[in-house]
Amino acid sequence: MNSIRTAVLAGAATALLALSACGNEGSPETAGGSSTSGGSAAAAPEYAVATDVAITGSPTYDKIKAAGKVVIGVKADQPGIGQKDAGSGEYTGFDIEMAKLMAANLGLTPDEIDFVETVSANREPFLQQGTVDMVIASYTINDKRKQVVDFAGPYYVAGQDLLVRADEEEITGPDALAGKKVCSVEGSTPATRIRDEHPDAQLVTFDAYSKCVEQLTSNAVDAVTTDDAILRGYAAQQPEALKVVGAPFSEEPYGIGLPKGDTALRNALNDAIETAVEDGDWKKAYDHTLGGSGTDPEPPTVDRY
Ligand code: GLU
Repeated sequence: MNSIRTAVLAGAATALLALSACGNEGSPETAGGSSTSGGSAAAAPEYAVATDVAITGSPTYDKIKAAGKVVIGVKADQPGIGQKDAGSGEYTGFDIEMAKLMAANLGLTPDEIDFVETVSANREPFLQQGTVDMVIASYTINDKRKQVVDFAGPYYVAGQDLLVRADEEEITGPDALAGKKVCSVEGSTPATRIRDEHPDAQLVTFDAYSKCVEQLTSNAVDAVTTDDAILRGYAAQQPEALKVVGAPFSEEPYGIGLPKGDTALRNALNDAIETAVEDGDWKKAYDHTLGGSGTDPEPPTVDRY
């Protein structure tokens, strides 16, 4: 059980900002975890900011505490997950909610988070070099990555899928990719899986998925592959032009990337995720972001490896 959370509400102004950024109506007080239909997400949650944080033996937490802020690597071009608004500079998405939730558990308000944009390939280097304190960026937990970084979580489980043009009929799954141009991102598990398991596909890579989506809509590639949660966000932006195949062919457990060896912080964040699942904050975060896509998954169990 988590001992580092105490109920003090974070600033309502932040919640309202997020609310207006998403174009929702209603007040944060009504955000009771109900999923709305028609693609609009539930109101912005507020997370209780801990006042009695005690994490001993964590060099990363010591750094955060001394700085009075936490630096979190997130994606900036993935609607529903991590997206930066070009005008306001505000970040939104489920990963951003997880970031606010983790910060709250460290005693920090949302405005004490420095978001740093990451792409798939620089997540491990950013953690190894101390550029960020943690990474919350659709980041699959796997053994290869665990050799150089650690993970709290998972806090969500996605699955690799395919995004195609709305009139596409041939591409129904990864086995139909032979001879087709499929776009993914360098340094991602989906790109590796295509290389290893579907070598007949013509893999094209960029540093960010939004570039792959541009390739798809301009007919330069036949499909985009990454996690279904990411692809649903792109499809929702252009429902007339794009569709998700909807046959996931992997498990992608999303973790919070941490500097290797910081077990104290990993334990504290695992506690925080468990508590958020129990007290409903996880569900509120989901409904406010990915829940708008009509899905309603069970939260995963954290893996205390
Ligand atoms: N979850 C996968 C990964 O961590 C794909 C998404 C991404 O590239 O961020 O590689």
